[in-house]
Amino acid sequence: MSDDILERYQQVSQAIRAAAEAAGRAADAVTLVAVSKTHDADTIRPVLEAGQRVFGENKVQEAKAKWPALREDFPDVELRLIGPLQSNKAGEAVALFDVIETVDREKIAREIGKEMAKQDRRPRLYVQVNTGEEPQKAGIAPGEAVAFVERCRSEHGLSIEGLMCIPPANENPGPHFALLEKLAKEAGLSHLSMGMSGDYEAAIGFGATSVRVGSAIFGARDYG
Ligand SMILES: *Cc1c(COP(=O)(O)O)cnc(C)c1O
Repeated sequence: MSDDILERYQQVSQAIRAAAEAAGRAADAVTLVAVSKTHDADTIRPVLEAGQRVFGENKVQEAKAKWPALREDFPDVELRLIGPLQSNKAGEAVALFDVIETVDREKIAREIGKEMAKQDRRPRLYVQVNTGEEPQKAGIAPGEAVAFVERCRSEHGLSIEGLMCIPPANENPGPHFALLEKLAKEAGLSHLSMGMSGDYEAAIGFGATSVRVGSAIFGARDYG
């Protein structure tokens, strides 16, 4: 089990480097965010031992239960929140995560700003864009994204590092990656979090600076 995971981890790491080079970028230009949601500490530990340091989780409570103990052994871990954030969890998220990728509305921006001041902690921040304008999906509408990034700076004192998107499940993701890249350029941002297990190599071709890969490393998730 753990051998399979390590083998897939090496394959994904290699494919990321190859895709970056194929796109004319440095082999190490793209950060792998290993998405460990639903997997327990015993499953994650071998990947840490293999050298991976950047991990993504989509729930504050789950991350809080798993990561403080792992971090005692691996203090240089970078933990990223990639799931929707409720404003009443903003304090916990600011305390736990090094990067919050899902800033997507005024209220969250305000709460994160308040908590950063209160806790004197400054996680790096991404604005999530709902590139497919899907009603059930989190993220700011593409037409409002650039103004929202500007308001995060001017009204909430937040420095935004980049944009993040999750393209619609059954569409060619290419146009969504291209749209995110265009919006980031307009907003003056250089970091793009895009690409998952099924499309991370494509995303790298469109300029992804980080890819969020779960099942291609850890295998299928069991939500039972
Ligand atoms: C679960 C998740 C991923 C990883 O998905 P895989 O298809 O398993 O690689 C990436 N991004 C977000 C926001 C997720 O919730």
